[in-house]
Amino acid sequence: MKIIVCIKQVPNTTEIKIDPVTNTLKRDGVPSIINPDDKSAIDVAIQLKEKHGAEVTVICMGPPQAENALREALAMGADNAYLLTDRAFAGSDTLATSTIVAAAIKKLGADVVLCGRQAIDGDTAQVGPQIAEHLGIPQITYAAAIDYNEERNSLIVKRQFEDRYQTLEVSGQCLVTVLSTLCKPRYMNVWDIVDQDSKEVGKITFADMDLDAKNIGLAGSPTKVQSTATKQFDKTIETLELDPEAAAKAIIDALSKRHLI
Ligand SMILES: Cc1cc2nc3c(=O)[nH]c(=O)nc-3n(C[C@H](O)[C@H](O)[C@H](O)COP(=O)(O)OP(=O)(O)OC[C@H]3O[C@@H](n4cnc5c(N)ncnc54)[C@H](O)[C@@H]3O)c2cc1C
Repeated sequence: MKIIVCIKQVPNTTEIKIDPVTNTLKRDGVPSIINPDDKSAIDVAIQLKEKHGAEVTVICMGPPQAENALREALAMGADNAYLLTDRAFAGSDTLATSTIVAAAIKKLGADVVLCGRQAIDGDTAQVGPQIAEHLGIPQITYAAAIDYNEERNSLIVKRQFEDRYQTLEVSGQCLVTVLSTLCKPRYMNVWDIVDQDSKEVGKITFADMDLDAKNIGLAGSPTKVQSTATKQFDKTIETLELDPEAAAKAIIDALSKRHLI
């Protein structure tokens, strides 16, 4: 089984501060991490490899420094890693991003494609399903568990809904988007960190893929960000001195006025 895991390098949001003047995120000096959903996807791919045998390839579209994310995935136990990087990819929205990632998957070949459900910075949850559409393969989203049935050569995927689970069986090529809660990603050990140093991270550029320049980068991006703003919270505090019964009523009234209960 050939598994490709798509990972995105994202800023560690727990480290991000807001610029009080511009109201934008301060990203300078903020460490980058593997998107949490993607890290679970890497781990489950390695679990499938350990249980059933598989080749795990990790790919990431991004600038040269995204190689660090791929090196971390190699240290976790991935077999191969490729960075999709080219000036022509800059400014890509989700449609252009998924076009590029899908072209790389076509080039490398995969039975199973794993993505995170959502990236913690872009937050659209569009890239996984779009890749499946570009490849013309079935997709299963919101995976809370994944296993492989060797006899039937099929993937068993448990999907999470708000109030229930759904279990699906799929044979043939497919794409699954994974929740970060699916598993607790393993830590790298010292030997794996040292070992990954001897592995090569391949580079895939525009010239290596079957891509039309008008479908990628800014030219191939139908969506444009008009503006971004930080949400302002109303911190007005009202102090009421009431007996317990009146206080309970005041709380209920305040919550129902805001449609919270
Ligand atoms: C108009 C516009 C311009 C933009 N310009 C830029 C820009 O110049 N530079 C820039 O860095 N970003 C840019 N972005 C953001 C970029 O398009 C998104 O970050 C990217 O498409 C992924 O979307 P997302 O973060 O919502 O991912 P989601 O759809 O939430 O991600 C879901 C999953 O898809 C996979 N995935 C997502 N992105 C990648 C990736 N890059 N490589 C591999 N797998 C991936 C991961 O498995 C991830 O968990 C731009 C966005 C817009 C709308």
